[in-house]
Amino acid sequence: MSGFLDARPRVGYFYAGRPAHSMMSENLHKLIVNDYKAMPIVVPESSSVYDAIVTLFLEDVGTLFIVNAKGFLAGVVSRKDLLRASLGNQALETMPVSIIMTRMPNIVTCTPEETLYQAAQKLIDFAIDSLPVVRPLEEGRNMELLGRITKTTITKAFVELGNDPTV
Ligand code: ADP
Repeated sequence: MSGFLDARPRVGYFYAGRPAHSMMSENLHKLIVNDYKAMPIVVPESSSVYDAIVTLFLEDVGTLFIVNAKGFLAGVVSRKDLLRASLGNQALETMPVSIIMTRMPNIVTCTPEETLYQAAQKLIDFAIDSLPVVRPLEEGRNMELLGRITKTTITKAFVELGNDPTV
């Protein structure tokens, strides 16, 4: 099952001759976003910055996705976005989260069909912690939110691969 040995009728088992690292990489590239995505934690764009901070703590996440009235992805708010907004004595209860969010179309996303490796590459390339998993609708104008991939997702998959005796 690990691919080190191959079997042929009347021949028996023989060494397949593939190095372990090539099989490791092959298995890594088989992991699909859809099988690893977690639930997206969302707040409406009309929410206050204060409510967004409360949601961040209650849901124990580092990034929130902001949705518009139709439920489509409108923006992303990170821990540091909220910290920045909290500096000084600003009225957090009345400040809409939409003012401080990174908004569409500047959101880096992934689809359920992409590999986890491609998603991890985006997290590195754009120096961000989290990607919304989306399904683009109406020629990409709207994004249906299906889940999230975070650095934690990638770490879990990495540990899982390390525990797999067939890898
Ligand atoms: P933090 O700001 O807490 O370190 P991130 O590194 O994820 O968290 O976020 C850095 C900046 O990038 C923030 O301003 C945030 O709004 C933005 N950001 C986070 N995720 C995304 C994303 N998927 N697409 C575009 N921008 C993002």
